Amino acid sequence: ELQVEDTIQWLEKSNEKIQQNKDYLTALDQAIGDSDHGINMSRGFQEVVNQVKSKQYDTVSDVLKDTAMTLMSKVGGASGPLFGTAFLRFSMRVKGIDPISQDAFTKGMEDALAGIIQRGKAATGEKTMVDVWSPVVDYFKGTTIVQADEVAQTAKKAMEQTKEITATKGRASYFKEKSIGHIDPGAASSFYIFEALSEVIK
Ligand code: ADP
Ligand code: MG
Ligand code: MG
Repeated sequence: ELQVEDTIQWLEKSNEKIQQNKDYLTALDQAIGDSDHGINMSRGFQEVVNQVKSKQYDTVSDVLKDTAMTLMSKVGGASGPLFGTAFLRFSMRVKGIDPISQDAFTKGMEDALAGIIQRGKAATGEKTMVDVWSPVVDYFKGTTIVQADEVAQTAKKAMEQTKEITATKGRASYFKEKSIGHIDPGAASSFYIFEALSEVIK
């Protein structure tokens, strides 16, 4: 079950991890991109937290909607619209439901992933954030009682596996086989978001 307060905490913890790992995310993007992922994400998530903490919310859907809008306008790059779409689709799916049950959360996650796939025209196995979101969604769909540590472990393992993949989408695809051996930056930031989630779900 997720309430407004839990959702705000999820975003705050995500932001903390992203700020702490800003240089690491940028270093990952330096290897197979244009060295801005840490900067993009830290700017966007700081703005999200500033906003959700300064407002009063009645529904989880409204928190997620503001999050989506802020990510779309502040993160930039390829990842901003993708994370923005994910949170927007999530928000739309859980509209009218409060607090969010595990079932509603799973449906929100499914739509979020569908949004990323649609917007990015990406599939799994292309070395993008989809390679973390997809197994996490599968975990939620396949589990009756979600275990927080399993959420984090699923995301972590999936993030690490992006090392083995040749990038075929986004800037990293310019590096072709040279992208092998590096974790995808968007997979790493997605991991922080799910690790943060694992710290707020009970
Ligand atoms: P940019 O590549 O424009 O500089 P970022 O560095 O902020 O943007 O984000 C890069 C991340 O975005 C990648 O690591 C990858 O996870 C994700 N990404 C890029 N293109 C796509 C796509 N078409 N579909 C899904 N994810 C993508
Ligand atoms: Mg980049
Ligand atoms: Mg860029």
